[in-house]
Amino acid sequence: MRLVLLGPPGAGKGTQAAILADSLGVPHISTGDLFRENISKETDLGRQAQEYMDAGKLVPTSVTADMVSKRLDQKDAADGFLLDGFPRTVEQAEILSEILERKGTALNNVLNYQVSEDVVVERMLARGRSDDTEDTIRTRLQVYRDETAPLIDYYADIIVNVDAEGTVEDISSSTLDALDR
Ligand code: AMP
Repeated sequence: MRLVLLGPPGAGKGTQAAILADSLGVPHISTGDLFRENISKETDLGRQAQEYMDAGKLVPTSVTADMVSKRLDQKDAADGFLLDGFPRTVEQAEILSEILERKGTALNNVLNYQVSEDVVVERMLARGRSDDTEDTIRTRLQVYRDETAPLIDYYADIIVNVDAEGTVEDISSSTLDALDR
């Protein structure tokens, strides 16, 4: 199963991705987690990403796509994966389809986690990550609206909508139901 998780920041994609990756037996690949890991290890990639993340802006696509491409080359991703946080722009989506085409594969589905802005702001303020200040939250929501939301149309043929406003358990069972249909 090759899946992408789409949705605004704070939609609970990371939590759902971890549960879903477990049930499907595929790796959970989160670009945000990969960047945070590189920042804590003080790598060059981490240094390149940090200022953008702190500001709530997108890390340049060249840097991000290269990191994803390398991750998808690893053995555990050969038979499937769950991409969380990538692609975030139409340009990135086009790069992803080229990467997969070269491997002779394609995405099965794109899960679109639907949640209101009030709920995402509440969730982000509650989790208290270092880039979860009010200013960066506002920037990230704006980036989502401008750059990421167009992917819902881009992926119209393979999109699966999930209501993401309930409890963690409700959302993960609706995800599995939606994928079954
Ligand atoms: P996330 O954990 O998905 O909320 O991502 C946290 C931050 O990492 C974002 O606000 C961006 O600065 C950066 N980031 C994660 N994924 C991407 C991506 N696909 N393209 C550019 N920047 C990204």
